[in-house]
Amino acid sequence: MKNNGLTILSDNGMVRGFFLNSRNIVQQAFQYHQTAPVVTAALGRLLTASAMMGKMLKNDSDLLTLQIEGEGPVKTILATANRKGQVKGYPGVSIVDIPLKPNGKLDVSGAIGLGTLNVLRDNGEGEPYVSRTELISGEIAEDITHYYATSEQTPTVCALGVLVDRDYSVKSAGGFLLQLLPGADDEVITALENNLQKVQNVSSMFEHTSNQEIANILMENIPFHITEEWGADYFCNCSRERTEKVLLSLGKKDLASLIEEGKPVELCCHFCDAKYQFTPEDMKKLLIQGSKK
Ligand SMILES: [Zn+2]
Repeated sequence: MKNNGLTILSDNGMVRGFFLNSRNIVQQAFQYHQTAPVVTAALGRLLTASAMMGKMLKNDSDLLTLQIEGEGPVKTILATANRKGQVKGYPGVSIVDIPLKPNGKLDVSGAIGLGTLNVLRDNGEGEPYVSRTELISGEIAEDITHYYATSEQTPTVCALGVLVDRDYSVKSAGGFLLQLLPGADDEVITALENNLQKVQNVSSMFEHTSNQEIANILMENIPFHITEEWGADYFCNCSRERTEKVLLSLGKKDLASLIEEGKPVELCCHFCDAKYQFTPEDMKKLLIQGSKK
């Protein structure tokens, strides 16, 4: 895995930052889901945010999930990540056709509409911890910033960008998350505000500039050091065994009626293009195994 992510901490301990060049992740998502450009941008931004937020998790087995439920044509978007830089996601609707904004940009907020952002943290023990906030813009970066301000009381700046090429592939994608830590003083806040003025276009910045250089721009006059260089990739952990569990979770009655129909069943993974076929014979075995447990 290539190191496309960077975590930094200011020497005075007042600011931490996450930077991710997510082109490979968003391109893989586009290939799996064959999304229209505006959906590629929306899903790509959410995947990028989830990858950086996943780096803040405590344990390798913890999962962070971002879920958008909107009234717009894309309906829902989900992205999930862990601390190891493994990210995956999917949109509710892949093909959405809405006009560009007057400034020529993809209308991500128009595709998402009004709605909510759910942030789920799952440590594998019991129910996940869910935090629900209203979308304030539907552009995703502002919504993540708003989430941190209201739900976590952590002043945060999130910026995300995806640039889709003419052939619908992903030309560039990336994002950063800067957080003020307890004790941050006015001097640091003013310096950060000044530095943020220099950011015009996030996706083109990640097209031409390395994470380290972007960190240098955003942290000008705030001495900092790198705490981790990390890699993040689109990764799906689906398997035949997991899919069997999904079939079993239908319940014996439904499984039995599928067997009775006598036709093979194909289950497709939401996150990647894997397909799992089950013949009536396979399902009979599952049913027997299931009743033994
Ligand atoms: Zn999969």
